[in-house]
Amino acid sequence: MINSLEESLMRISYSALDAYKSCPLKYKYQQIDKIKTPKSKEAIFGTILHSTMKFIHTPGILSPTLEQAMEFFSNSWNPAVFDSPEEERAAFVQGVKIIQDYYKRNNPADFNIVNLESRFQIEIGEKENRHIVSGIIDRIDRTADGFEIIDYKTAKKMPTQDRVEGDMQLSVYLAAFLSYYPEERKNLDRLKVSLYFLKHGMKLSASRTEEQLKENEAVFLETIKLIEEEKFEPIISPLCDWCGYQNICPMWKHKFKELRKLDTEDVSELIDEYIELKSAISITKDRLAKIQEKITFYMDQEGVARVFGQNGLIARSLRVTYKYNEEKIQSLLAPLGKWQDVLKFDKTALKNVFDLLPDSVKKEIEKAKIEDKKTSSLIVKKGKI
Ligand code: SF4
Repeated sequence: MINSLEESLMRISYSALDAYKSCPLKYKYQQIDKIKTPKSKEAIFGTILHSTMKFIHTPGILSPTLEQAMEFFSNSWNPAVFDSPEEERAAFVQGVKIIQDYYKRNNPADFNIVNLESRFQIEIGEKENRHIVSGIIDRIDRTADGFEIIDYKTAKKMPTQDRVEGDMQLSVYLAAFLSYYPEERKNLDRLKVSLYFLKHGMKLSASRTEEQLKENEAVFLETIKLIEEEKFEPIISPLCDWCGYQNICPMWKHKFKELRKLDTEDVSELIDEYIELKSAISITKDRLAKIQEKITFYMDQEGVARVFGQNGLIARSLRVTYKYNEEKIQSLLAPLGKWQDVLKFDKTALKNVFDLLPDSVKKEIEKAKIEDKKTSSLIVKKGKI
């Protein structure tokens, strides 16, 4: 029994789960195929700032001064990862500014630090659906009436307060904190979870309810289920710009291919011709619609049903569509036992009511989805990509 449970148990880090949510194919490359990619300069910049924050807040007799923090940052700096001296200088200046701003807004001695970069492992789910999620919490502080869990972010964009209210990472961190401090579960309203945006010098905070923690766990379990079912479809998003797998990803790799031959034809010429033809079709369609509108207006004005040109004629054809009185038809067909035969499941109607259904029903409907057939079409994006 213990063996079968252990077999189905998945050990997964929060960052791997997050990678799956942003793009399942990226997760597969990273976690299953174990394809290594060089760390991006943004990631290295983030790591240096995270270690500087750890240095600043490491408890000691005296907290580090701004100068000491700067020295630590400079000694950790890695100029080799940048593409040019200008880029390296700009990044270094940005790092210095972040640390200066941090000291302007915060006095490290004011904080009661409980833990820094603490590793955790928590169990989620139960029985054969039991899994272990691991991660690292940047910082845990003791506050006047409880605790605060802080995660540093080096993102350029500041999210809205809503994002922090629903942030899954913070919920997992709080669940991990509660597994180490179970007596704090009764004080949930006094436990703060915060994202500190270093580039903006701003912190967004929220708290969590028991329900939110439960919902979060359910989302995690669903994600793990998708991984177990080996669902690894790519998701194209702005994050692709920072993905190290573009050269092997089916959505991008063609961009990196030098040889584009299909039999003896040059595929790159065919691609460009296809794009041009699709664009010509849409211009023609627009022009046809305008001409049709004018000719119809002319026919109405002249009271004619056919018009003649040098190359042929155009005739107006009238198509009438009907709908039936459903009650009447039902009353006629039901006694003959034929009413069920004409009723058909309507996907569009389902889509229209879907948003109004309770969440539990929505989930069941999603589960009832069966793949019918797969068709592929070509979508054209014009311009340089
Ligand atoms: S390039 Fe984009 S779609 Fe492809 S694996 Fe990376 S994130 Fe996913």
